Amino acid sequence: MDWRERALCLREDPDLFFPIGNINSGPVAMQTDEAKAVCHRCPVTEQCLAWAVDADPVEGIWGGTTEGERRAMRRRAARKPAGTETAA
Ligand code: SF4
Repeated sequence: MDWRERALCLREDPDLFFPIGNINSGPVAMQTDEAKAVCHRCPVTEQCLAWAVDADPVEGIWGGTTEGERRAMRRRAARKPAGTETAA
């Protein structure tokens, strides 16, 4: 079974995972937190996050992260010397 078939977000409004606007504004921040809460209950968060990091840039909340958070993860990974990666 593909991990996507176990995604908890399949039962949610897809728009929840694509907040529009300034992430620091109240309604957008609340929507982001709500989407992340679904991700944190999801059984395939790790697979989803790995896909999103590899596929970036992709918009929206994936694996409990925003696009900006994934960008920061990639920057941190790029700064690490080869062979020092650790499992999350
Ligand atoms: S981690 Fe979040 S975005 Fe990814 S499949 Fe699960 S609910 Fe959907």
